[in-house]
Amino acid sequence: MKICFATHNENKLREVKSLLGGFEIVGLNDIGQATEIPEDGLTLDENAFIKANFVSSKFGVNCFADDTGLEVESLNGAPGVFSARYAGEAKNNQENIDLLLQNLQGKSNRKAQFRTVICLIIGGKVKTFEGVVEGTIAESLSGDDGFGYDPVFVPDGYNCTFAEMSMQEKNAISHRGIAIKKLVEYLEVHT
Ligand code: IMP
Repeated sequence: MKICFATHNENKLREVKSLLGGFEIVGLNDIGQATEIPEDGLTLDENAFIKANFVSSKFGVNCFADDTGLEVESLNGAPGVFSARYAGEAKNNQENIDLLLQNLQGKSNRKAQFRTVICLIIGGKVKTFEGVVEGTIAESLSGDDGFGYDPVFVPDGYNCTFAEMSMQEKNAISHRGIAIKKLVEYLEVHT
C-alpha cells in the first residue's frame, strides 16, 4: 500500500521508511508538492491535521503528517506549536535556544517535554497518534549531534542531552519515535 508522509525533510522520510518496511512510503517531493504546506494552526493537532488533509484532498492519497513542539512547564507550554520560529521567522536553532535559556533565567522549574502528534488519513478516516518524552532544560548547551533544541534537552533518566546521544539511542526513546511506533502498530493491524 502506498502512503504519503507529508514532509520535505529527507531525514525524517528515511527514518519512517526504515520503520514501515511493508508499505510504499513517499514524500511530498515524490508526489509533486514542491512548496511548503501552510501551518497556521494553533495546536500541534491542528497543524498535523491541516497538512494531512491538504495532501489527502489535493492528491487523493492515503497520508500522514506530523507536528512537534517543545513544551516548557514554567513557560506555560511555550514555545509549543511555535517551536520552530520561537525567536523569529528565520527559524534559527541557536537563536531559539538563546531565547529559551534567557526566558528560563532565574526559574528553578526547568521541566519540559517534547510532544509529537501524527495525523493519519486513510480511506477517508482520521486517526491521531501522540508521543511524549519528558525531561529538563539544561543551563547550557552540550553535544553536537541532533538538531533544534537537542543540545539543551536532557531526557528523564539520563545525564546527557539529546545532542550527546546517537541517533539510534535518541529514536528509541524520543517523542517522534514513540508516535511513529504507534502509527506502525496501527497500520500493521488495520491494513
Ligand atoms: P517539526 O514539527 O518536526 O518541524 O518540529 C518543529 C520544531 O520543533 C523544530 O523546528 C525544532 O525546533 C523542534 N524539534 C522538533 N523535534 C525535535 C527534536 O527531536 N529535537 C530538538 N528539537 C526538535
